[in-house]
Amino acid sequence: MNAKKSLGQNFLIDKQIIEKITESIQAKENDLIIEIGPGMGSLTKKLKKKKAFLLCYEIDQDLKVYLNDLIDDKTKIIYQDILSANILNDIKDISYNNLYIVGNLPYYITTPIIKYLINLNLDVKEMIFMVQEEVANRFAALPKCRDYGSITLYLKYYFDVTKLFKVSKTCFNPIPKVESAVIKLSKRVNQPHVNKEDYFKLINDAFRMKRKTLKNNLKDYEFAKVNAILQKHKLNDTIRSEELSEDIFVEIYHSIFNVN
Ligand code: SAM
Repeated sequence: MNAKKSLGQNFLIDKQIIEKITESIQAKENDLIIEIGPGMGSLTKKLKKKKAFLLCYEIDQDLKVYLNDLIDDKTKIIYQDILSANILNDIKDISYNNLYIVGNLPYYITTPIIKYLINLNLDVKEMIFMVQEEVANRFAALPKCRDYGSITLYLKYYFDVTKLFKVSKTCFNPIPKVESAVIKLSKRVNQPHVNKEDYFKLINDAFRMKRKTLKNNLKDYEFAKVNAILQKHKLNDTIRSEELSEDIFVEIYHSIFNVN
């Protein structure tokens, strides 16, 4: 079959990598796995061996010839754009313990997919995704790293994000232009006590201009309140956002919004 570039179709052909991804998913028989973009089913076939409920969303109906053979009592394929799927409705009659979401994601919509899933408020235990390596680095970055930014802190609010392993271009057919990596997002137990909207806006503003200082990026906020936190941590007011940990951002948020 001719892979459709416009749908991000780079099929995983490396058996060891398929095995490694499968092993990193802890799902048991009474759990539910949602797979995004099963493609020709290389990962789906391995996932089926876990005997969990398996619900796959694939946009490309031409893949039916590969995927329909995989349907059984516990495996369902839904031919639909994941971004308009009514997942809550699709899973409402399945009685499962834990929910896992996996996928070798179409790279052109990696972040929209993850944000879409987060906004559905599904109670997901873990998400395991193949993404572009550069994106994996941003998602799992630590403070003081070049890749650390607002998306890192946004995801961190919900999950503990780990880069599991790198995947070479040559593990796919057709070979993509970029290197890849598999990441794990595990549901976080202790989320910061913040109003999400205000906190995410603060973070977006703090990282708005990459080369500017925190002070410059937060010039629409009462900087004395920001500075009080910086001074408490013996930090200079010329500091840049990428140097600040989540804890400090949460303290800054509390100071600005007068929340304790
Ligand atoms: N899982 C397969 C594999 O590892 O070989 C295919 C991975 S390929 C990178 C991405 C898959 O996502 C393709 O099968 C593509 O058709 C599908 N896809 C692209 N956009 C999608 C969307 N909006 N909703 C659901 N599936 C989509």
